[in-house]
Amino acid sequence: MIKEWVLGAGIAVLIFLAVLHVNILPLLFLIGLGVLLYVMLDRRSGIQLGNREAPVRHHVTFDMIGGQEHAKRELQEALDFLRFRDRIKTLGIRPLKGILLTGPPGTGKTLLAKAAATYTDSVFLSASGSEFVEMYVGVGAQRVRELFRRARQTAKKENKDSAIIFIDEIDVLGGRRGNLSHQEYDQTLNQLLTEMDGMSTTQSPLVLVMAATNRPDILDPALLRPGRFDRQIKVDLADKDGRLHILRIQTKDKPLAADVDLEHIARETYGFSGAQLEALVNEAAIIALREGKEEISQEMFRDAVDKVLMGEKTGRKPTEDDLERVAIHELGHAIVSELMRPGTVSHITIAPRGNALGFVRQIPETDRYLYTLDHLKQQINVALAGSLAEELHYGNRSTGAQNDFMQASSLARTMVKCGLSRIGIVDEENLPESVLDAEVRHILSEQDQVTRELLEPYRSDIAAFAERVVAEESVDGKQFRDWLAGIQHKQGAFDPRQMSGVVAMGSDAVPGMS
Ligand code: ADP
Ligand code: MG
Ligand code: ZN
Repeated sequence: MIKEWVLGAGIAVLIFLAVLHVNILPLLFLIGLGVLLYVMLDRRSGIQLGNREAPVRHHVTFDMIGGQEHAKRELQEALDFLRFRDRIKTLGIRPLKGILLTGPPGTGKTLLAKAAATYTDSVFLSASGSEFVEMYVGVGAQRVRELFRRARQTAKKENKDSAIIFIDEIDVLGGRRGNLSHQEYDQTLNQLLTEMDGMSTTQSPLVLVMAATNRPDILDPALLRPGRFDRQIKVDLADKDGRLHILRIQTKDKPLAADVDLEHIARETYGFSGAQLEALVNEAAIIALREGKEEISQEMFRDAVDKVLMGEKTGRKPTEDDLERVAIHELGHAIVSELMRPGTVSHITIAPRGNALGFVRQIPETDRYLYTLDHLKQQINVALAGSLAEELHYGNRSTGAQNDFMQASSLARTMVKCGLSRIGIVDEENLPESVLDAEVRHILSEQDQVTRELLEPYRSDIAAFAERVVAEESVDGKQFRDWLAGIQHKQGAFDPRQMSGVVAMGSDAVPGMS
């Protein structure tokens, strides 16, 4: 209203001045500048905030989150203070103000916060830590104030008893104060603490602040004090059953072919986050679309896993000679992998993807958190086998094994640092680099010999199968195993279990020639 009055009066004055033949151009210019400045400032504090933190309508429920049973249960328990407020009051329990979700990206933290809002019938507002960081001192703090005000306002408007504010990447604004020697961060963080301290725990609407980070270690301790984020819930990568659960959720509305085995896919996707599994299912559906199919098949899922793991197929066209070498190299990896742990080769591919010219994908037997010495050695064997297969066949090696060697060295390093090498238990901090290097080299040359002996019996047969790999581009684990069994049969019964210590093999795909 006032705006219109001022505008009208301003125009009147301008016309008056113009009539008096005063030069109004400089004045117009100044006014224009003023308006521009006003709009810009408005953007910074008001308009943008309004849009971004508008309550989002969503229907996320806990049922839509897979593989986080523990986090879900803990969160639901914590949320019950919002649902059963009266009991909390009679028992005199101090209501919760903040819940911190910690864990790697893509594990479902945002989903959990949204589901929490649905579960407690609260309005949901979200913001990200980075949105509060501005060049201008005070803007961040102003935004925090605004966010809390809007939460209360929206809850009232929608007749809800509670509001959930979700702050993603809280580490950006909640890093240890002083460390960054940046006044802006301090002010914003202080404002957040002030808002949380001032939050009423009895008056409607109740506000609950949820925050997410994958770096809880760098948070300012003030944030974690009682009455602030005093509940921490870990949201970790899902295990195999969890991945299966997520896959079931993500494929619920998708037409799956009869041959699709989600259990198998879950086993193959060790280390995938929920977001990666979602991307995987989406990729598989895109492949189906591209191929003009009505249903998504197991093979499409397999290609999608390759894509998520290794990147898009590249247009590189290796020569026939190169292709054969890549095939022999990959067969080396595959043979040793099967010898060490039968049934673990998922497939062998020589289609260039991402940085790799080819690769063998292994199926991890189970999710592992601890590795034995035998296990580490076997992984080194698998890594070295690619380059060794080249040497046995061609009499020379190529540059394609750089990645394999890096992997083997890093495994050997782990062995030394964990006290599993010849030199016994070591103090990692006082271990001279030269000693570490010498021991790593010793382990690698020892395992090089072991691997060579493992591959030797297959030396004369490998070329024929390599030809087939080149022709078919990708060979399934089952076909490969049939071939391997054939050779073993020819050479007289060979029982892989006679090998020393057959333990579960590595969980990572062995990167191929890169
Ligand atoms: P975060 O906040 O931990 O980075 P998000 O909650 O934003 O992860 O997850 C991103 C997307 O990944 C979700 O929208 C969902 O499609 C998928 N997703 C992640 N975790 C899960 C899970 N546990 N169950 C089902 N889907 C998930
Ligand atoms: Mg998120
Ligand atoms: Zn390799």
